[in-house]
Amino acid sequence: RPQKLALGIDVGTSGVRVAAVDNEGQTRALSTHAFAAGEERSSPAAWWRGVEACFKALAGQIDLRHVGAVAVDGTSGTVLALDESLSPLGRALMYDEACPDPKIVASLDSVAPENSPARGLYSALARAAYLARKHDAFRVVHQADWIAMQLGAPVTSDENNALKTGYDLDSREWPAWIAGLDLDPKVLPEVLPAGSVIGPVCDKAASLGLPPSAVIVSGTTDGCASFLATGAGDVGEGVTALGSTLVLKLLSDRRIDAPAYGIYSHRIAGVWLAGGASNTGGAVIRHFFTDEDLPQLTARLNPEQPTRLDYYPLLRPGERFPVNDPDLQPKLEPRPADDAVFFQALLEGIAAVEEQGYRRLKQLGAPALKSVRSVGGGAVNAAWTRIRQRKLGVPFLPAASTEAAVGTALLAWKAVAK
Ligand code: ADP
Repeated sequence: RPQKLALGIDVGTSGVRVAAVDNEGQTRALSTHAFAAGEERSSPAAWWRGVEACFKALAGQIDLRHVGAVAVDGTSGTVLALDESLSPLGRALMYDEACPDPKIVASLDSVAPENSPARGLYSALARAAYLARKHDAFRVVHQADWIAMQLGAPVTSDENNALKTGYDLDSREWPAWIAGLDLDPKVLPEVLPAGSVIGPVCDKAASLGLPPSAVIVSGTTDGCASFLATGAGDVGEGVTALGSTLVLKLLSDRRIDAPAYGIYSHRIAGVWLAGGASNTGGAVIRHFFTDEDLPQLTARLNPEQPTRLDYYPLLRPGERFPVNDPDLQPKLEPRPADDAVFFQALLEGIAAVEEQGYRRLKQLGAPALKSVRSVGGGAVNAAWTRIRQRKLGVPFLPAASTEAAVGTALLAWKAVAK
């Protein structure tokens, strides 16, 4: 019998990726398309060209006629305005762009509940309200919503993309206080749980090579997709991202929102994905050492013999999670003469913050950490892994994939594989 395939489309900051997984949830194909530097990342037309390029490449790897389901993830908080024919009005406002109108941010501050993930200068909701007003828009949608719409979805979003736009996960509606921003909630998309079957694909999807029998499944954010890609799926399973910053994610049976720590939770498959980001991380390592220095320093690490230097690696004062202290000072002294010892102390310091982070999540109501998967540039460092294992004391599991597109393909696959 023919293999049924599910596709995940990831529209990221640097480009588009499309992954295919088979009946067993195994990755069968991956294609990528990079954006040109500059405006392309915020251009809906460039996103779509990227999708088309990926499908063209994918058609050389798999038979697209066997695709049964497709879902999309996008950068969390990227929004765009649409006219009545659902065509984009100008470029998108990206997740990392502050709302251009400080008055909107100020009114958001006064109307949004204290613990709303939609608050702040970088609020997706503030950007949405800005675009709605600027263009007198018919609709404002997220990046992933718009790509799904090109495949045949109506004006729909998912609970993960909608979270930072202010969607209320308890009452499952756009809260009435949004009107206080001069934003009619009707401008925002209808919201479905992530991983819900939306309906069949449209003719435009057929031009990509998708069969009419394929269905669109509501997608998610790039961050949630990266978590799903690792294979983590049980309550208590954590994923640590050792990139420029240290980011922890933990599946919880309870929702945890602690805005003071920058912690909020996404609903995925009926449980909660809680996450927090520290200012410590690889950026501090990179401040002192180039990536080329690291292998020879790593070879001289001695994980079984801690330096006891007790660092808190930060590039500048201030931390949000696991301690909320805007004045927290970096601790990077004394600096030993031997660079390998200094490097080890940095790694131990970051590992200590990781351990403190999972403890903080538990203190706020999450389950105890049961296992860890590691992603990001630091995950390849076996000596660091050993240092972290000693601190965390839980099994370390391999990440099945680090591709957000694979996580989104798995979301689509699970929606139809029931
Ligand atoms: P980003 O968050 O920017 O995507 P990456 O996941 O690419 O980051 O990780 C880059 C970081 O990983 C850099 O800060 C670098 O110092 C760190 N890094 C790279 N290789 C190693 C290594 N072998 N051991 C520890 N850290 C590493």
